[in-house]
Amino acid sequence: MTTDFDTVLKRRLDALREQNLFRELRRVDSAQSPHIQIGGKPFLNFSSNDYLGLANDPLLQEAAIEAVKKFGAGSGASRLISGSLAPHHKLEEALADFKKTEAALVFSTGCAAALGTICALVSKEDIIVLDKLVHASIIDASRLSGAQLRIFAHNDLNELEEILKWAAKRVQSVSRPHVLIVTESVFSMDGDFAPLQEIVALKEKYGAWLMVDEAHATGIHGAQGRGCTESCGVAQDIEVQMGTLGKALGASGGYICGSRPLINFLINRARSFIFSTAPMPAAAAAATAAIRFVQSDEGEQRRKLLWQRVDQFNSKFKTQNAKCSAIIPLMIGDENRAVETAAELRAQGVFIPAIRYPTVARGTARLRLTITASHTAEDVEKLGDALTNLKSLAEQRTTNIERRTSNA
Ligand SMILES: *Cc1c(COP(=O)(O)O)cnc(C)c1O
Repeated sequence: MTTDFDTVLKRRLDALREQNLFRELRRVDSAQSPHIQIGGKPFLNFSSNDYLGLANDPLLQEAAIEAVKKFGAGSGASRLISGSLAPHHKLEEALADFKKTEAALVFSTGCAAALGTICALVSKEDIIVLDKLVHASIIDASRLSGAQLRIFAHNDLNELEEILKWAAKRVQSVSRPHVLIVTESVFSMDGDFAPLQEIVALKEKYGAWLMVDEAHATGIHGAQGRGCTESCGVAQDIEVQMGTLGKALGASGGYICGSRPLINFLINRARSFIFSTAPMPAAAAAATAAIRFVQSDEGEQRRKLLWQRVDQFNSKFKTQNAKCSAIIPLMIGDENRAVETAAELRAQGVFIPAIRYPTVARGTARLRLTITASHTAEDVEKLGDALTNLKSLAEQRTTNIERRTSNA
């Protein structure tokens, strides 16, 4: 039986290898930082979502250690059973204050936040409308919710409106479905932005609800790092604000911010919240420290540093990078070539992962380069040299990255 089981799985793995889609873990023997050790070798790391360099910051370390000393390592149970420890409440107060919402709720991960929230809000009588490029956790949650799923082309407002028109006709029917639109503010694999003001106008026009995932915006975009919902001036008009504590905030966990009724409803209905052990108190305390940091003057300085490094890169290379985005996709297309290019960069001591299907569509493989505030000007310089040395770049095979000719 077991041999048969393993044989089936090995065959499936072989199929992945043939398509250049096989993945494996690379063990990192150092903390998250621009400089990491893999297999005993040092690499310059341009793969992390730790945009502000907080993951290994003494401020977060100390907050976590304090919480461990006072509240222990584990949280013992689900929040509704016995695990609703003070650090989780403090974090939720800090989040609501930060995002200027009535309330907030913390989940063990951003994935769990998406899953629990979407499945609680809509069911098979309802309609869910997604941007084509939303994160896998949102797609999976939407499927699991049983709601009718409609997808619009990436950032295509015309198609979104067509779908909302179609949905509005059904809303007038006896069953009166609810319509939930879900998008990201900064898209995780492309680094571009959703037209939030226009999407809010449409959802108001057609009476839909809107959920915005700020996983890659919280902490780095908007005044005091509140996110794009804030910089676009639409935060108050969005029913559900979602995000993660694991990227710019340097800790781990997911959150939902919104009205008190929304949060009370999720406490009662979000299954990934109800049936899951509360996050470690240390994670909550670290995230709380990060939220305070991003709102401080020092946080502002750190963001300035981040955008300086992004500008430094953009002044050397022309990519399809949206202006002012820390996520820079170097589009390659072919999966095999993406893997080869990543290997070529590793040989030069630069770590940038090749992103392939199923993270992105087939034939749109890319190197996903992320720049952080903890990279030095010299690090970015070295990255530029490594990219310049790429054979594939010299042969103009890499499609969207081009060296700027000026010495600026
Ligand atoms: C990373 C990510 C998530 C999931 O958050 P985790 O806390 O890592 O589970 C959700 N949405 C987007 C867009 C993400 O990039």
